[in-house]
Amino acid sequence: MLDQAVPAGASRLLVIDDEPAVGTLVGRIARRVGFDVIVTTDPSDFKQRVRNWRPAVIILDLGMPDTDGVELLRFLAEERVTARILIVSGFDERILEAANRLGAARGLNMAGILRKPVTLEDLTALLKNIGHDVNEINAPRLAEAIDAGELYLEYQPKVDLATMTPSGFEALVRWRHPELGVVPPMKFIPVAEDTDLIRRLTQWVLAEAMRQRDSWSIPNLTLSVAVNLSAKNVDGDDLTELLAPAGTARAVDLRNLILELTESAAMRNAEQATDRLTRLRLRGVGLSIDDFGTGYSSLLQLQRLPFSELKIDKSFVIDCATSKENAAIVYAIIDLTHRLGLKVVAEGVETRDALQLLARAGCDAAQGYYISRPIGAEKVPEWIAANRILELA
Ligand code: C2E
Ligand code: MG
Ligand code: MG
Repeated sequence: MLDQAVPAGASRLLVIDDEPAVGTLVGRIARRVGFDVIVTTDPSDFKQRVRNWRPAVIILDLGMPDTDGVELLRFLAEERVTARILIVSGFDERILEAANRLGAARGLNMAGILRKPVTLEDLTALLKNIGHDVNEINAPRLAEAIDAGELYLEYQPKVDLATMTPSGFEALVRWRHPELGVVPPMKFIPVAEDTDLIRRLTQWVLAEAMRQRDSWSIPNLTLSVAVNLSAKNVDGDDLTELLAPAGTARAVDLRNLILELTESAAMRNAEQATDRLTRLRLRGVGLSIDDFGTGYSSLLQLQRLPFSELKIDKSFVIDCATSKENAAIVYAIIDLTHRLGLKVVAEGVETRDALQLLARAGCDAAQGYYISRPIGAEKVPEWIAANRILELA
């Protein structure tokens, strides 16, 4: 039997099962329901496909000879995979449920469990349901959302730890979806990254952030605004062109703009990145390396790229006051960053103890729920008025 052609824009589904017959059956049904499917029996192939093919749905066999589903769940959590995950296995229902809970506790988007032997009806129904869910957020719908003004920005304050005054805000995009409510960026940025849409989205965020920053006009306070770039923006686009809608229409001062990008984004094509990022630095834009410590990086390249700031990833910062290991990492990063002549910012400051540790360690700035959660643009002037000098420590 010939498999049906994959419809354009079909959601990607990755199946791993050590029984080829099961994988083939699941794959065939999923294609019939409209998915673009890859089936594998090999854990390392599976990992590579998760990274490179970025499936929207994953069907995971819990018991395999060379690895087990729990290890793969850990891998998916470490990769911060946002795909819907369906567990299929012949194990006892309780084991399946425990694995499902474990996945959810690690922040994975668990879609349910299915016990072997899998019936045709059950699988078809489940896949149709998931397909419906997944299709709520796709590139054409996201493009409409940008046009319809459904995206908006929230701003999270950054505080200068030497003076305890606000130093700037990070712009974080959200989607107010009419049916789904507020959709977080991790759910739709990857969709935008799969297509050219990421260019439009980033342009929109930049223009909106610069416009809103100007509208705050706070006397005697210079505030920076930081915007996140996607790896695709650094790879594909001429970055100065990205800034055109934000910059040329009004003579904005780019010295108050900071662009945040992750290590992996900068390291992917270091030469090209250096070229593009240096041109931005020449125009006065600040460059911040985001989520430092989680991605792949070479310290040599880090030193070669024209960064002005480094953000320590929140996974080290959140419990730096209670975990000796994380405190050691935080101290080392602060020291390293200063030796390289860069400013260091800690993100994910959730407690007073963490803030005090960072201030004592000489960290330059901090951001996190303890200071403030991200707030609407209209609340920013009010927040600053109430927090000209913060009494946090
Ligand atoms: P990020 O740039 O590392 O942003 C920090 C994230 O950590 C934000 O989540 C923020 O709400 C959250 N956060 C802040 N303080 C704390 C804290 O004390 N504890 C904890 N547990 N979390 C904290 P958000 O807004 O969901 O954004 C997630 C990611 O989405 C961002 O990570 C960034 O990579 C991406 N993102 C957000 N906006 C944009 C955008 O406009 N363009 C692109 N390309 N990516 C964006
Ligand atoms: Mg960021
Ligand atoms: Mg970050």
